[in-house]
Amino acid sequence: MAKKETKYIFVVGGVMSSVGKGIAASSIGKILQSRGYAIANLKADMYVNLDAGTIRPAEHGEVFVGEDGVEADQDLGNYERFTNQISTRENYVTTGQIYAEVIRRERNLEYEGEDVEVYPDIPKEIIRRIEVCQKKSEAEIMVIEYGGTVGEYQLLPFLEAARMMKSKKHADVFVVLISYLPTPALLGEQKSKPTQHAVTDLYSVGLNPDFVICRSERPATDDIKRTISNVCSLPIERIISAPDIYSIYDVPVNFEKENFGAILLKTMGLPTRKKDLADWTALAAKIKTINKEVKIGIVGKYFNFKSCKDTYISVIESINHASWGLNHKPNVIWLDSEKYEKDRSKLKELQDLDGIIVPGGFGKRGTEGMILAANYARENKIPYFGLCLGMQIMTISYARNVLGLSDANSTEMDSDTKNPVIATMADQVEKIKNKNYGATMRLGAYPCLLKDGSVAALAYGKKSISERHRHRYEVNNAYIEPLEKAGFVFSGSSPDGRLMEIAELSKNEHPFYLGTQFHPEFKSRPLTPHPLFYAFVKACISKKK
Ligand code: GLN
Repeated sequence: MAKKETKYIFVVGGVMSSVGKGIAASSIGKILQSRGYAIANLKADMYVNLDAGTIRPAEHGEVFVGEDGVEADQDLGNYERFTNQISTRENYVTTGQIYAEVIRRERNLEYEGEDVEVYPDIPKEIIRRIEVCQKKSEAEIMVIEYGGTVGEYQLLPFLEAARMMKSKKHADVFVVLISYLPTPALLGEQKSKPTQHAVTDLYSVGLNPDFVICRSERPATDDIKRTISNVCSLPIERIISAPDIYSIYDVPVNFEKENFGAILLKTMGLPTRKKDLADWTALAAKIKTINKEVKIGIVGKYFNFKSCKDTYISVIESINHASWGLNHKPNVIWLDSEKYEKDRSKLKELQDLDGIIVPGGFGKRGTEGMILAANYARENKIPYFGLCLGMQIMTISYARNVLGLSDANSTEMDSDTKNPVIATMADQVEKIKNKNYGATMRLGAYPCLLKDGSVAALAYGKKSISERHRHRYEVNNAYIEPLEKAGFVFSGSSPDGRLMEIAELSKNEHPFYLGTQFHPEFKSRPLTPHPLFYAFVKACISKKK
């Protein structure tokens, strides 16, 4: 029998950004996977950065870290949460990577004396990257999400790549346009004109949509669907309504209500197969019925009017998963740590919370406020969970307030501190000196062994774990002994015992006071909450009682 050809679905945005392209691409992956297909999601970002690692979080959102240490766009986190497929660097492409590879090859004479052109060499490299991802993942269907919106200059080589693929493999390449239907308050009705323009933009680069997903506050009306189907010369069933929903986890369920999975497969010429989305659908339904609340504060610093949700997306989703697992509805409160530096009396507000999280972060700004919050949580028995920087913060706070080393600090915040309880990792010293910052942190998955009977070991229910990292600083081993003598417990370490990975206070000392040098938030899934988030939220719920 002939080998089945891989299908490629390009997900592109029209009209405007931030309408949930990533969730739509994840959901397409999810519904196809639920019908028994091997899928892979790939994200292509338009920026020249080689990866997301050097982009400010408040600017671009969370940097998602893969098992292999790739520092990627947050959408890879959505893909993992929806499809439970592990993303690696093959799943993430940027303009910078494409150019870097083409230039590398040119320097190696691999173009054999030809001149190297933006067209066709850049789109060809984009296609090669898509194929590399397909080979590695052995996907039968690839879902390729393009950042940005059609009509943008920097998207052109990527759209051209899709067109070139389509011209060769006409029956295997499909385009899904995620568009937006505004409802001007003045009119109170949905308008399709911006979507029509987005379709025209696609036509102008030689592509036509095979599906249009209509994002809007309300479901797309039949009239609107008909108009769009007319403009695109598509059957009306290929115009998919995607109204605002209660939670992102409703999106695959909603797609299936529109029969999207079956129509998509039929369009691709593949058997529709029976779907298995029952657990997922049950969770999405359950979320809406939960009303007991648990109130969790995030004491961080990457806040601005639009992006705190994006900046801490994996942390928030992990809180969600654990809370739902415990039949509670999370109420996440944003707390800017800098306010505690200006006015310590504000710390009292932490009393109203069921627990606090100090998430990851870089640089000195705001850290004194976090240290104050960590100390307040310890003294007042408020559940505390520190993620990477948050673990370093609780260590500094303990050294200052319990060991009495009032000038204890991290060398990241004060390179001359007399008590560097958190110090630069040995292999980072040269890198920092040479300003060699891109993709040079301790990145990706590393194993960790847990201390018997510790809070961490009880939460995980096993002794050996693996978690993802992204840091340059670590607990200074010279302080382990004094800290442990004073009651601080290092309950997780690298197998050689040299790197402290988890710190905690015993259950007798505190209901939950634990920090991890790694980022557990990258591995939580809606149906399988992360064990540490679960234990933390459980402690928060107990405090409430
Ligand atoms: N800035 C700290 C470090 O580099 C913590 C990093 C983080 O929170 N991801 O070690």
